[in-house]
Amino acid sequence: MKKVLKNCLVINENLSVEKRDLYVEGEKFVDFVDGDIEDMNSMIVMPGLVNTHTHAAMTLFRGVAEDVALSEWLSDYIFPRELKLTEEDVYIGSLIGFMEMIKNGITTFVDMYFFPHAVAQAAKDVGMRGIVARGLADVDGHGAEKLKECENFIHEYASDPLIRGGVGPHALYTCSNEYFKESVEVAHSNDSLLTFHLLESPSERNDYKARSDIEAVDFLNSIGAFDEKTIVAHGTHLNDEELELLSQCKTTISYNPTSNAKLGNGIAPIPKALSKGVNITLGTDSAASNNSLNLFNEMKFGSLIQRAYKKDPTMMKIKEIFKMATCNARKPIPFDVGKIESGMLADLVVVDPNELSMIPQKYFYSHLVYSFDVTAIKKVMIGGKWVYDGDFCNVNTQEVIERFEKTVDSIDSRI
Ligand SMILES: [Zn+2]
Repeated sequence: MKKVLKNCLVINENLSVEKRDLYVEGEKFVDFVDGDIEDMNSMIVMPGLVNTHTHAAMTLFRGVAEDVALSEWLSDYIFPRELKLTEEDVYIGSLIGFMEMIKNGITTFVDMYFFPHAVAQAAKDVGMRGIVARGLADVDGHGAEKLKECENFIHEYASDPLIRGGVGPHALYTCSNEYFKESVEVAHSNDSLLTFHLLESPSERNDYKARSDIEAVDFLNSIGAFDEKTIVAHGTHLNDEELELLSQCKTTISYNPTSNAKLGNGIAPIPKALSKGVNITLGTDSAASNNSLNLFNEMKFGSLIQRAYKKDPTMMKIKEIFKMATCNARKPIPFDVGKIESGMLADLVVVDPNELSMIPQKYFYSHLVYSFDVTAIKKVMIGGKWVYDGDFCNVNTQEVIERFEKTVDSIDSRI
């Protein structure tokens, strides 16, 4: 498929604007191609956003437990429900999650959950790109089979155009040290993305130290868990020395400000991490702890909460936070995304600059972070194909929603 998108206002990570035509051949942007012409009528065309930490299927649990602490939220509400989930439940929950992400301008995800084939199928059915990291834990005694499934999945999807496998040991409080080490080895031997929750809540550091007699970060460093293909989710309670280590290891932190705030887990030390050169990306976390899958919200809230906390309106600059939602994710993930440029994958979002949230147009770059309303998103392309143009191009929205509602009722009846 060859496409010419005429009259685009192209925005890249530095938030500069360029009025030009874009050329797409197959799944990539190219310098020039003679193809079907589509006039974009001076709409803004920006890179698709990259959500580097999510559990898409947990749309099934949106609103199920509010106003409780992380440990209670997990043990009393989430884990009992997750035990009852079928592969089909995870498929429909993931599908709704990916639809919401696309509608909100997200074109690539890093997901951690179980039933990886169901997650991948949901993504492919709606046309979404992502890394499916099989969530791993051995507290239930089934760690080995999960790790095998994870490795098989990585092999199976090694050359898929939209999906790659990843390794997702859930956290140090759900994985034994030995199992975590095996998981890291599987990631390394398959050259795969590794992602895990780290020091998300205030008690994790001391709880781990009491169990293992070593600091969590020191243990993870000793087993080689930090490198440029690692995404640490949260890192809310990392100290200066640990941030320095992550910087040296070129490890990425996925900053999830809304989830951290909602669960009362604190404010991640992102300005400090930036000053030490740590690569920062953004994540929504799940629809159960956020409750939206919207990175525009994360850009705004992630900036504001740091400024409020530090009483400093000059930190977390617009360009800095826009990069966190786009091109910074290129470092750890195996896809060339986050930038509109020849040779990169053609993942883009078309934004109407005439929407009320986008005017005055001459200051549009500020609006993308501070006043954006997703109703301004008119179309979304992933891998050279339109997946959203006011409605989803590949799935029947109403049918999916009806099936989703039935699934939620069915899960509740099993508890
Ligand atoms: Zn998470």
